[in-house]
Amino acid sequence: MMPSYVTSLQDGSFESKRHALEHTLANCTLCPRECGVDRTAGERGYCNADVRMKIASWGAHHGEESPLVGTHGSGTIFLSHCPLRCIYCQNHDISIEGHGVHCSIDDAASMMLHLQGQGCHNINLVTPTHYTPQLVGAVGIAAHQGLRLPLVWNCGGYESFATIRNLDGIVDIYMPDVKYASTELATAYSDAPDYFERCIESLYEMHDQVGDLVVENGLATRGLLIRHLVLPGHVDDSKCVVDAVAELSDDSYLNIMEQYRPCHHASCYPGMDRHVMDKEVREVRAYARERGLRRTTT
Ligand code: SF4
Repeated sequence: MMPSYVTSLQDGSFESKRHALEHTLANCTLCPRECGVDRTAGERGYCNADVRMKIASWGAHHGEESPLVGTHGSGTIFLSHCPLRCIYCQNHDISIEGHGVHCSIDDAASMMLHLQGQGCHNINLVTPTHYTPQLVGAVGIAAHQGLRLPLVWNCGGYESFATIRNLDGIVDIYMPDVKYASTELATAYSDAPDYFERCIESLYEMHDQVGDLVVENGLATRGLLIRHLVLPGHVDDSKCVVDAVAELSDDSYLNIMEQYRPCHHASCYPGMDRHVMDKEVREVRAYARERGLRRTTT
């Protein structure tokens, strides 16, 4: 299947979307924080990213979901900084402290082509939201030089509807987290009271664009792959997340993840200072099956 961005480049729609996104950087509303800072003038908002892209690492990654990994891995590019500051973040050195190396748009395009040359099955952009215009620019350059892999948008779920709209015809596979349904949890753990509302409206837009996950010969080519990390003591909220995903589509691909551990500031929060229990994860997975989700972690 031809990646969406190739078709958009051919029909001219890619360039207008890239322009609209680039324009946003001067009054940044790329994510729901809507800081309004001028990143082109060096200002920084909540995510602490300036206009220069910063990349923490890149390479073939074999730890993602099997339809992304295949035999040669997912071509992963980890971006530094993040619009969320989750108190339990496992990558806080990258996302909150901002470790990484400044890279030009041309550098990022070269990385994508290199990953394709290594045999990776897709380009997997991890925490891309705050660098959306720069990454779209890099995809355009790389596509002109022969990039033909599906583009994976691996994001935290706290997304701006307008930004996602501008990715229509550019992204092939959306891979958002749905972290919480509860306003209280989203406020306490990610300082984002409107997390669920923003996440769900973006999720529906993503689904309208790409549909449920399509897997051909064991590899994802297009669609929506949703992730949810079960938190200790919050099975009821996980069930509300499952309800929302089930309402979207019976064919939703939902990875219910079990790897929570108390990282970053989690040990300061009562109840978050322990690993999640197997029985908690099993209960959420069983509930997903009860709700009719056929494509979920067992
Ligand atoms: S991407 Fe960063 S600067 Fe822009 S609105 Fe979001 S948090 Fe603010």
